Amino acid sequence: MPPSRTQDPTTPAHRAWALPVALAAGLLAGALLGWLAGGRVASGVAIVAVAEIVLLLTRFGHVTRSIMPPPATAATPRHDRLLMRTRRLASNLRDLRRTASQLPDAVVLLDQEQHVRWCNHAAETLLGLRLPQDRGALLRQRLQASELAGWLQQGGEREPLHDTIAPGKPDSQISVSLLPFGRRQQVLLARDTSHVTRLEQMRRDFVANVSHELRTPLTVIHGYLELIDPEDVPALAPVLGEMRAQSRRMGQIVEDLLTLSRLETQHHVEDERVPMAPLLATLRKEAEALSQGRHTIAVEAEAGLDLLGSPKDLHSALSNLVSNAVRYTPAGGSITIRWRRSADGAVYSVSDSGYGIPASHLARLTERFYRVSSSRSRGTGGTGLGLSIVKHVLNLHQARLSIESEPGRGSTFACHFGPERLPSVDDRFGET
Ligand code: ADP
Repeated sequence: MPPSRTQDPTTPAHRAWALPVALAAGLLAGALLGWLAGGRVASGVAIVAVAEIVLLLTRFGHVTRSIMPPPATAATPRHDRLLMRTRRLASNLRDLRRTASQLPDAVVLLDQEQHVRWCNHAAETLLGLRLPQDRGALLRQRLQASELAGWLQQGGEREPLHDTIAPGKPDSQISVSLLPFGRRQQVLLARDTSHVTRLEQMRRDFVANVSHELRTPLTVIHGYLELIDPEDVPALAPVLGEMRAQSRRMGQIVEDLLTLSRLETQHHVEDERVPMAPLLATLRKEAEALSQGRHTIAVEAEAGLDLLGSPKDLHSALSNLVSNAVRYTPAGGSITIRWRRSADGAVYSVSDSGYGIPASHLARLTERFYRVSSSRSRGTGGTGLGLSIVKHVLNLHQARLSIESEPGRGSTFACHFGPERLPSVDDRFGET
């Protein structure tokens, strides 16, 4: 009788796989829980875990096959138990693999050079990949002519790619990230964001439409209020003053909302040379008009340093910071506007000796309608939209806003522009 090919359950091959398989099951349970919890990061981690399992399963398939006895072999009771356990495990793992391939987010396992090793059904739909034909294909070549391919070419792991057209489903948009996986491999994750983009678009349209609809009736009301002479109706004079102030405020809110809607839908600005000397002079005049002599106002600027960008939007952003400094600094305080070269570009800043802002508020200041003190903001004619506009304008100019503040001592709001925003000495464009 030929010797049985059955291995003892305690052979090294079996022991070596017992731990990874147990780990795989544990990882997958955690992964699925994470994914069900819904968080973006949680689901990313979950998917990587699932990806690990899929590879593990592929290898485990070979090992289980190698330790399975041939069907005709005479079985011992111990061998039967091993066989049953192995079959149960293999069936559970098959189910888990099926689940992984049904995840709604696209998952593609890539090797060191970004050749496709495995992908799930969502990747087939969203990215247009096909298994087994695409196994081993270079992903960026396979997705040629898509924005995604360019992003992969430029080393996509640096930052995620948001709202790009899905190569396999052109009417959908996806957000894609690339994560390191294993020793030198990567996993590409893509999520269909079409519904979020649509909702976001609906929100923008709604705000823009409401603002447009309010603009005309408000202009009419404001016009009539201006026509009434308080001397004709002395008893109503205080009420009339308040009505005029409020209608002006409503008009300003509508204008700011329309500006924000425009900035949100804009992806780039037409670059023009913005001469900073006259712009800084205008900002100073505006500050003095608003302050009415209650503050000391100074401008410190580096001569001959101009900016590239949209003159109208830059004026709006930079003057918002000046107006805030005046409005949130009590009488007798000082305000300094600075414009100078920095190590990596140039910085425009406005410092004041005003009320200051507690640190807990700083991160939220650029949100729409976020105010540290609503009464102080309204009392000074604020709309709660100024810093939001500043942030959007700076984004369009690839610049960033930094805020330093100490309650009771004052604040500094600084706009950091990169070197590409500074026209070179012999850059004549924009000049006549
Ligand atoms: P608002 O129209 O209310 O001023 P902003 O978006 O311009 O709206 O500013 C948001 C909030 O940030 C303000 O309500 C105010 O509480 C705070 N803030 C802005 N600038 C300053 C400043 N220079 N000093 C103190 N607080 C400020």
